[in-house]
Amino acid sequence: MNLKDAIRTIPDYPKPGIMFRDITTLLGNAGAFRKAVDELVQPFAGRKIDKVAGIEARGFILGGAVAHQLSAGFIPLRKKGKLPHRTMAVEYALEYGVDVMEMHLDAVVAGERVMLVDDLIATGGTAIAAVELLRKGGAEVVAAAFAVDLPELGGAEKLKAIGVPVSTLVAFEGH
Ligand code: AMP
Repeated sequence: MNLKDAIRTIPDYPKPGIMFRDITTLLGNAGAFRKAVDELVQPFAGRKIDKVAGIEARGFILGGAVAHQLSAGFIPLRKKGKLPHRTMAVEYALEYGVDVMEMHLDAVVAGERVMLVDDLIATGGTAIAAVELLRKGGAEVVAAAFAVDLPELGGAEKLKAIGVPVSTLVAFEGH
């Protein structure tokens, strides 16, 4: 079972020049889904992780499964306006314009050890915003784990530079 082969690539989606790494084929393959979750969890088994934070929307699927396996709680990090209770927010730059990510004010208890999970890290902008938000809430971000790394875009290195250890399962060349 090769995880890389279980991920479908869609050229020029959502715009020309982007190779979209579509994990729905991995999620739909029982063996690949289990293996991906097991591999994301493996470095942290037996370490104290209080909560897993997942980034909307694909980070919810992997992050929820990882949280279950680590017997940790789950924190949804969502786009603006989606969370029902009081929130804190961070703005982050997109290629064109800015986006806002939110977390419930009471999602983290100060000092909790939190692991961040998303499907893919590219430039790292989304994950760095997530770390900022979690730290603002008082979390100690002990790790970030992604199924897919696009190393040429440098996101994993940027995350390490702000003090977050990064683990990834497969890497693809290019954007
Ligand atoms: P970035 O902030 O540049 O690290 O982008 C990461 C976010 O955008 C993740 O939530 C990914 O789901 C999504 N993303 C960026 N590039 C791709 C790609 N080539 N294929 C699939 N998803 C991507």
